[in-house]
Amino acid sequence: MPTLGCVSGTRAVIEKYNLCIQKKFGQNFLIDDSVLSKTVEAASVSKDDTVLEIGPGIGTMTQYIAEKAGKVIAIEIDKMLIPILSDTLSSYNNIKVINEDVLKVDINKIVQEENDGKPIKVVANLPYYITTPIIMNLLENELPIESITVMVQKEVADRIATSPGSKDYGALSLAVQFYTEPTMVQIVPPHCFIPQPGVDSAVIHLKCHKNPPVDVIDSKFMFSVIRSAFAQRRKTLSNGVANGNIGITRDQVVAALEQMNLNPSIRGEKLSLQDFATLSNILYSFIK
Ligand code: SAM
Repeated sequence: MPTLGCVSGTRAVIEKYNLCIQKKFGQNFLIDDSVLSKTVEAASVSKDDTVLEIGPGIGTMTQYIAEKAGKVIAIEIDKMLIPILSDTLSSYNNIKVINEDVLKVDINKIVQEENDGKPIKVVANLPYYITTPIIMNLLENELPIESITVMVQKEVADRIATSPGSKDYGALSLAVQFYTEPTMVQIVPPHCFIPQPGVDSAVIHLKCHKNPPVDVIDSKFMFSVIRSAFAQRRKTLSNGVANGNIGITRDQVVAALEQMNLNPSIRGEKLSLQDFATLSNILYSFIK
């Protein structure tokens, strides 16, 4: 039975270890049983699954995942938490904790070693200072992942769920659409954490596509086009891409936009995923 999804269990651990909560690592521990249960439920975790948890903290969500999963691999950067995790997770025999930075560790190698290369599920209450790089890394490296169910700042969930034309629309929205089908699971207010974050949070579920929804010759190239299109949001798409150091000139972008019957002075935020796929396929044909 989980012991930590409540104020008393979490306070007891903090006091026992005189734990200094590290703001620099984005440490906000969940204390709400229903939020934790609903998150793991949204991930549809079963005993057939190996789950990767990013940032187990003192082991709160880890306990909830371990109850349902076959195996949990938890990657935690803060070495001070490792002995605490040995204590709080001592009654489970299906958890492996790795003391590493998730942005530096080779997740592919972990999946090969721990799950024979078969797809895993990711479930986490993410550290908010690196939410976007973590999600982009998981998606763009095309790792064997079935789904990603994560707590993020509500503002990031809004950026993920948005459509062309909105101020929130950008590389993250497009990457999530290209690789997954996103759904919003729940909005989570600050009082569900110790310490309380300054913003609302949200749990999102990203079901990874077996095949991308658009045809792209080279997805890495398409994302370099997308990134340069949004790097300078106030610039036109053609200037942004030309300044992106990806070997494309302004004239080539203008020619491609004309082929697509789009205005050459259009901005990146107006293009859909399908538009970016077509644009990058045309640009690719110019340079290869
Ligand atoms: N899972 C716990 C919970 O729900 O209560 C804690 C979540 S807390 C928001 C984020 C966790 O991520 C912290 O334990 C923090 O130390 C860890 N973390 C921060 N940066 C990390 C990184 N680069 N790699 C791995 N873990 C990291």
